[in-house]
Amino acid sequence: MNKPKVGFYNLSGCSGCLLTILNCENQLLDVFNGAEVVSFLMAQSNNVEKELDIAFIDGSVTTDEQEEFLHELRPRTKKVVCLGSCSCYGGVQAMENEKGTWLKRFNKVYGKKPFKVVKPFESKPVDAFIPVDYYLPGCPIDADQFLYNYARLLRGLPADVPKTPVCLECKWHENECLLLKDKLCLGPVTSAGCKAKCPSHNLPCIGCFGPADESNLTSEFSLLKEKGYTFPEIERKLRLFGGVKFIKQFKSLWKKAQK
Ligand code: SF4
Ligand code: SF4
Ligand code: SF4
Repeated sequence: MNKPKVGFYNLSGCSGCLLTILNCENQLLDVFNGAEVVSFLMAQSNNVEKELDIAFIDGSVTTDEQEEFLHELRPRTKKVVCLGSCSCYGGVQAMENEKGTWLKRFNKVYGKKPFKVVKPFESKPVDAFIPVDYYLPGCPIDADQFLYNYARLLRGLPADVPKTPVCLECKWHENECLLLKDKLCLGPVTSAGCKAKCPSHNLPCIGCFGPADESNLTSEFSLLKEKGYTFPEIERKLRLFGGVKFIKQFKSLWKKAQK
């Protein structure tokens, strides 16, 4: 039987999501034996570019070269899966997006000389350029969530990621809620899947899994406001990983709250 052909690619990010896969030492042989891995630059040298069943993409899109690559990749790939918050939401490098300050910040770091090889632009998620089938968020991704979904995808099943927020997993761990200690925890609005790693170590969730489908933003906003947090404080926390999707929702709530 022909094995599914898969490729692993990284764009702009720290590559920590692909490293998370390579760190699955006990399962790594299964990862490579279960599929025909045709491209994985960080793991092998005999890479080829051809028709794929699944492309896993880590990192955000920050240059015209990466954008062109995505347009070349999509027509020859049956399923595209975003790995990690950079790929799903633009990542930490997108936290100041849509403020109109990108060029100023870019010039501060890289100077004003024109780039000759690639044309850089503000960091964007993969779905700003091509249709994406599934999202496995996190900074980095959760290894168990990846392995579970990798097995499903290789069998032709859809990805299965929680719609519920981190709070649910936090309750399963019987943690004392950090909001009760007046800490700004984003668990109620952040997608589950990490097994509530941070609150289980007495640290507030900073939202690295991005927005949860089934969350109550209005309630979280009112709660944080009641506890004395200002909109800029809440916005900065949400921007870190949640991308502009989060911010747009919160801005409309903020406007309502000010009326
Ligand atoms: S999501 Fe986080 S771990 Fe993954 S590539 Fe981006 S910065 Fe690195
Ligand atoms: S500590 Fe955070 S994640 Fe846990 S229940 Fe409270 S708000 Fe939710
Ligand atoms: S608790 Fe929040 S910040 Fe921590 S790993 Fe989970 S989603 Fe990320």
